[in-house]
Amino acid sequence: MRFSWKILLCSIIAMAVSFGIGGYFFVNDVFRASLEREIGQAADDSSILKFAFETAALNVPTKYNMLQDAVVEEIGANLENRGQGTKRLLRLSDENREALYASEGFAGDAALLSEIGEQTRAYQIIHPDEHYYIQTGVMVDALNRMLYLETMRDVTEVYAERARGFRVYRSLTVLLLVLSSILLYFISHWLTRPIRLLTQATRRMTDGDYSCRAEQVSNDEMGQLTRDFNQMSQVIEENIHKLEDEVRAREDFIAAFSHELKTPLTAVIGYADLLRSRKLDDEKHFLSANYIYTEGKRLESMSLRLLDIIVTKRYRLEPQEIPAEALFKYLQDMYAERKEYQFRFDCEPCRICVEVDLIKTVLLNLTDNACKASDPGSLIEITGEKREDGYLFAVRDHGIGIPKAELQKITEAFYMVDKSRSRSHNGAGLGLALCSEILKLHGCEMMIESTPDVGSCFSFLLPDQEGVRDGTDE
Ligand code: ADP
Repeated sequence: MRFSWKILLCSIIAMAVSFGIGGYFFVNDVFRASLEREIGQAADDSSILKFAFETAALNVPTKYNMLQDAVVEEIGANLENRGQGTKRLLRLSDENREALYASEGFAGDAALLSEIGEQTRAYQIIHPDEHYYIQTGVMVDALNRMLYLETMRDVTEVYAERARGFRVYRSLTVLLLVLSSILLYFISHWLTRPIRLLTQATRRMTDGDYSCRAEQVSNDEMGQLTRDFNQMSQVIEENIHKLEDEVRAREDFIAAFSHELKTPLTAVIGYADLLRSRKLDDEKHFLSANYIYTEGKRLESMSLRLLDIIVTKRYRLEPQEIPAEALFKYLQDMYAERKEYQFRFDCEPCRICVEVDLIKTVLLNLTDNACKASDPGSLIEITGEKREDGYLFAVRDHGIGIPKAELQKITEAFYMVDKSRSRSHNGAGLGLALCSEILKLHGCEMMIESTPDVGSCFSFLLPDQEGVRDGTDE
């Protein structure tokens, strides 16, 4: 059953119960008040009759020193007819509770007489036929006799009023329940709208639409729930996109890796087949074996680079403070024999916090790339500059440059702008990927500026010591 229907049903039940109980007590209360009024009037009637009887008895001629039964009957008949318009119902009984006079139709219960005392009046409600009566009883002291005077007052109308009250209240309750059910239907529908919107959004998310958000229609707890749900959806969407990107990158990586393996392996298999199937002259034999050797070496260096990248990703950095000049000294020594390029090393002295071997790898890769991209005789500048928030390393060349569209991709593994040119330099597109991983560990990233046929500048801003990560994340 839907939640809005449950709210509706529970509200109707609660209203029906409270209307029922409330109505019962209300109608009964009105009835009791009316009945008490009638009882009061019945008592007044009884007192008036008693007084009238005693007065009439006093007027009986004094020759009788005791009230005769016939006189009692006569007074009773008189009193009965002295009612306003209607006859009174009364009964007069003697000391032995034997009836001396009773109005026609008087159906009082004689048992009431036993409850009457000299000073006490008694009453009871009786229901001898389809009518209800208040029967009262009182003792009358008349001419040395103690008689009993009983009256009956018809209160059928009070009971009929109560039955009518219940009927009206029942109809009113049904009408009110119908009207309030209609109203409650709309209220519960409106109250449960945020739940329906959340359910729709959840279903759409289950169907794979992670961009959907639930509309917030209130500022109460449901509104808070919607806000939380939307925040959760946002995080899920971002994570899904991240995972999708990662999966795509991994697929690209595997595709590029297999491609890079295939090319040298095809050549190695071809030359190996040639060597085993034919007798070659010495020169061809050497060339074939040499090709197998160089391609094998390329594969070896590629697998080592890959290993480096994987190891670097999981590496825990152990930085140490060194002077930046030491790194430049190392580079100068490394490239001292490369006379075909003009190197310019310009270093601002500063102490930096790095893992020395890793930063050396980065600088060597960048300088190697600069050499590969430059013509002999070209200038390659390696500089180190102190900045407000760190130390900036830059390797600038005046070589072939990189088209703008390629700049984003060249740090991806196996990405080469010009494949044949890169392969001819023994490259596999892994150098910059490795550099990026190392720089990530140091809390910085590679910045590349390049213009085709003008040159490129690869730089990174090594943050101050507190910016260096320990390499434990991701
Ligand atoms: P590789 O091992 O092939 O050099 P890298 O990851 O180091 O791989 O470089 C990726 C690609 O980026 C290279 O194939 C090259 O096309 C391009 N590249 C890198 N550095 C430079 C540069 N200084 N000038 C022009 N192109 C460059």
